[in-house]
Amino acid sequence: MKKKGNINVQTENIFPIIKQFLYSDNEIFLRELVSNAVDATQKLKTLKSVGELSTDLSKLRVEVILDKDKKTITIRDNGIGMTGDEVEKYINQIAFSGAEEFVNKYKDKDSKNSIIGHFGLGFYSSFMVSDNVEIITKSQIPNSKAVKWSCDGSPNYNMGEISKKTKGTDVVLHISEDSSEFLEEARLTTILNKYCKFLPVEIKFGQKSEFIDDPKGKKDKDGNVEKIEKKVDNIINNTKPAWTKRPANLKESHYKEFYKELYPMEFNDPLFHIHLNVDFPFNLTGILYFPKLKNNLEVQKNKINLYSNQVFITDNVENIVPDFLTLLHGVIDSPDIPLNVSRSYLQADSNVKKISGHISKKVADKLNSMFKKDRKDFEAKWDDIRVFIEYGMLTDEKFYDKSSKFSLYKTTDSSYYTFEEYLEKISKTNNNKDDKTIILYTNDSNEQHNFVSNAKDRGYDVLELSGPLVSHLISKIESKETNVQFARVDSDTIDKLIDKGDSNKSKLTDKEIEKLKKLFEDTVEKPKFTVQVENLSVKDDPIIITQSEFMRRMKEQQMVGGGGMQMFGDMPESFNLVVNSNHEIIHKIATEKTKKKKTDILNQVLDLALLSKGMLKGKDLTDFIKRSVKLID
Ligand code: ADP
Repeated sequence: MKKKGNINVQTENIFPIIKQFLYSDNEIFLRELVSNAVDATQKLKTLKSVGELSTDLSKLRVEVILDKDKKTITIRDNGIGMTGDEVEKYINQIAFSGAEEFVNKYKDKDSKNSIIGHFGLGFYSSFMVSDNVEIITKSQIPNSKAVKWSCDGSPNYNMGEISKKTKGTDVVLHISEDSSEFLEEARLTTILNKYCKFLPVEIKFGQKSEFIDDPKGKKDKDGNVEKIEKKVDNIINNTKPAWTKRPANLKESHYKEFYKELYPMEFNDPLFHIHLNVDFPFNLTGILYFPKLKNNLEVQKNKINLYSNQVFITDNVENIVPDFLTLLHGVIDSPDIPLNVSRSYLQADSNVKKISGHISKKVADKLNSMFKKDRKDFEAKWDDIRVFIEYGMLTDEKFYDKSSKFSLYKTTDSSYYTFEEYLEKISKTNNNKDDKTIILYTNDSNEQHNFVSNAKDRGYDVLELSGPLVSHLISKIESKETNVQFARVDSDTIDKLIDKGDSNKSKLTDKEIEKLKKLFEDTVEKPKFTVQVENLSVKDDPIIITQSEFMRRMKEQQMVGGGGMQMFGDMPESFNLVVNSNHEIIHKIATEKTKKKKTDILNQVLDLALLSKGMLKGKDLTDFIKRSVKLID
């Protein structure tokens, strides 16, 4: 049999188009060919399992062979092979129609990059890097004749019989001049590591050195058996990665080892993992790890690797995994995720939506069971997983609902409560005159120490809520729990924050108050401060600087993004200067006759208030210190 033929396609010459389309991602040729080779070996297994094959399957293997001199890369398998008729059918017709379809579909699209690499272009992707491609193959069917097919990238091919002893296929790529980078061993190693690291059949790429004990037992001067160098096959993959195993057969240490295998550069152990295993209504396996989050959320993203039957597809899992879960690490493997389509299509795909929903549910279930099983341990992990859960609560309604069972709130005394428990705890103290429950919080118990301790002196509890998402989160909670309101301890005077409705009488006359207000207004920086004279308790500080919860929250939300409006970002910070008309010193200022003395006391109390907010800086601070030293004198 010797045959010349014309590959049956309408498009005259599609290879230049394929080349042009795939250029930016042409390394995937290796993934495609190696996975074809792996498939060919897996098909033998299938035949064996249905009793149509009697040969031994123990030595199934794929080999990638680089020959720099001949400028070839050979992908060799001992799989099912093809007969001449099969080459005709699978390579000349089917594979090509796939390539043609691809070109027709994407000819006019701009979004080249988004589809490249997600389209299983298969065998013909080899022409992206080759001048000529040969297939030398022999079918597993007993007594079949081996054939050699070759094609130079035009629609014309040659096919003829050849001698080959064993079943299987060699695909030989004659690498083109402009793709010579692929003749570098290091480059191929990188590509194989990226795409083939967890394929289910051993992939050999050259040899490597191993140092073993000298078989003759020769000893060195210290009496230790000498090591000798031995060349062994370089197997680049782990054929049984942890996610393909049954959770029952894995120990904690196995999960940690696998994490190291996935992220050799990562130096912290993960906090815990979730093993996913679904077969209905779609197939999905995988292991997700909760990493120790660092401050910068962005750089943490895109660490999850997406596989399809152990072939690496992408580390961009946007749209497949709910956004908040992209902070996780690990692997997802699903043959059911359509990989050959653009991202916008993926977003609308109902299977993908289900997968995303399922993963989110699994994560919530796992967190809930951890919480139930060992609350102390969960609390110990809380500070590390908090941001992640808050992110989930903000972006995923279903997760928000489920999270109420395990989401925790930490008090300034380092006790943890669920939201429900916390409401119960403060139910007797924190209701205001309108019967709203006011939750007091601090985002920095050090900086707001004065305010926190004032609140505690009144018998109120204070939550510790910090981090980039807090202002968004509390607004979200308020929208759900309409009877609850959050207030940062420094957003007003304590008796205003939880206003019970009882007011103090002032010791000063209305006229004195009027004058006092004017006096302060003339002294403070405007419009940064708004002066308010109030009849606080004698126990309160003479002057308290507060900042409206609403304005501050809007500003914060705008900084994180989402919510709030532009105007809040542009607005300068503004504060309230609350003057306690019932404080002795304020009284003194109001009644002091000597001008100099009056100003000195006024400046001193003002500066103390600024100092306690960390707002006294520069020359003002220097003046304050000088004045204070004089006062001591
Ligand atoms: P796909 O792998 O998506 O089916 P390809 O273009 O990669 O498309 O391959 C077309 C067909 O050619 C395969 O389905 C398979 O039947 C056959 N084939 C390709 N490579 C091999 C191989 N190494 N051994 C046996 N058959 C192969």
